[in-house]
Amino acid sequence: MEIKLQELKNRLMEVNDLEAVGALLNWDQSTYMPSGGAAARGRQMGTLAQLSHEKATNPEIGRLLDALRPYEESLPYESDDASLIRVARRQYELATKVPPAFMAQLQTHMAESYDIWTRARPADDFKMVQPALEKTLDLSRQLAGYFPGYEHIADPLIDYADYGMKASTVRAVFNELRDNLAPIVQEITAQAPVDDSCLHQFFPEDKQLAFGLDVIKRFGYDFDRGRQDKTHHPFMTKFSLGDVRITTRVQEHDLGEAIFSTMHESGHAMYEMGINRAYEGTPLANGTSSGVHESQSRTWENLVGRSRGFWQFFYPKLQAAFPEQLGSASFETFYRAINKVQRSLIRTDADEVTYNLHPIIRFNLELELLDGSLEVRNLPEVWRERYTAAIGITPPDDKDGVLQDVHWYGGLIGGAFQGYTLGNILGAQFFDTALSAHPEIPQQIAAGEFDTLHNWLKENIYQYGSKFTADELVRRVTGGPLDIKPYIAYLKRKYGELYKLS
Ligand code: ZN
Repeated sequence: MEIKLQELKNRLMEVNDLEAVGALLNWDQSTYMPSGGAAARGRQMGTLAQLSHEKATNPEIGRLLDALRPYEESLPYESDDASLIRVARRQYELATKVPPAFMAQLQTHMAESYDIWTRARPADDFKMVQPALEKTLDLSRQLAGYFPGYEHIADPLIDYADYGMKASTVRAVFNELRDNLAPIVQEITAQAPVDDSCLHQFFPEDKQLAFGLDVIKRFGYDFDRGRQDKTHHPFMTKFSLGDVRITTRVQEHDLGEAIFSTMHESGHAMYEMGINRAYEGTPLANGTSSGVHESQSRTWENLVGRSRGFWQFFYPKLQAAFPEQLGSASFETFYRAINKVQRSLIRTDADEVTYNLHPIIRFNLELELLDGSLEVRNLPEVWRERYTAAIGITPPDDKDGVLQDVHWYGGLIGGAFQGYTLGNILGAQFFDTALSAHPEIPQQIAAGEFDTLHNWLKENIYQYGSKFTADELVRRVTGGPLDIKPYIAYLKRKYGELYKLS
């Protein structure tokens, strides 16, 4: 059995290595590659993707998994070997259900669609990208069709990103969340808008970058195993557990952009850096779901990074870095500015209170597109209706409406958005549990110390990688299933104080 397990690990390591090389090419394309390299780079990534798919679906892996089943069943569920075999089997079954020719067609179409979107969005021209989006919808439906037996056609696509979740369970959670959020949004937006002009002065790029790096170093982001570079759309990427990189972007007239995106991506990265090093090169060496991943980025960005205590420590340092811009802005002015709640059009710019309304709109649209109750050509109009109804603001154009997010234009329709909101909910649940175990965490944050929180997250969440599913993890850590109550309580506590809610 040991020989068979080693052979399985060797084969999985090859797949892992090819994927890591692909990630490196992608990182390079998004950071330093000259534009002249684009065509060849697309081809190179396609070649690599095909090689790794061939390796990942080699029938020998299936034979090894079958042979290892008795061994797996003889072990405790949570042993490393049993977990490795279980997760490898899940991925193998997933990969082998989809014909390679379909995957190739999907890859080619996504590259074309993305390219059209990069021109359609600045031109505010939905019609330009509509045929590509219609084809994306067809392909998304076709992909779901390789996984028959679902309740809603979106289920296989949701399950792929957030294993164990399906449309009906996510919809129930989101409806409850929306019903809880709507009155809070209503009450806050009826008040006079907060003045956040202190954030919109000129802040030189180099000083913004230096400040962000200082913050995440204190969080515990390990620069011996990572680095930060500039890009257009910030992301985290990993080439091994010893090389987990982040990217950021700076707006010299918006102080929030770089600082909060740096904290966000560092949260994704610290999750990956904290995975048990013994899992290197195996399917266990990844975060377990998009929701759990987002829970970690949001923890550091929002629960920590937008908290009063955090800025009690860091605001004097920020003022020292920007004395002319912030010297006369009081702590309270700054704290209110970075937590300003407003009806807005753009998901990525939304505040903590209104944020979830954005992914919920998209999630419901995905379900309707997939089940055929909404046609692509009617999407821009329905998008405007939903924003007017749910957020109270009507997009004046499609550029900042239906064309704003890359997801549907560079990827599938289905499964793309629920992770953001699940992440906010899970993040609050985990954070609450950490605070019960260590009530001293808030005082430590206010002193610029993050070790207790970081170590708790490592011990309870990070180290396991993909060993447990999101549902297993949340039950192990918090003692219960996914639950919106801690998140709603957090928002009411924080924004009740800021906005004097009834
Ligand atoms: Zn994220």
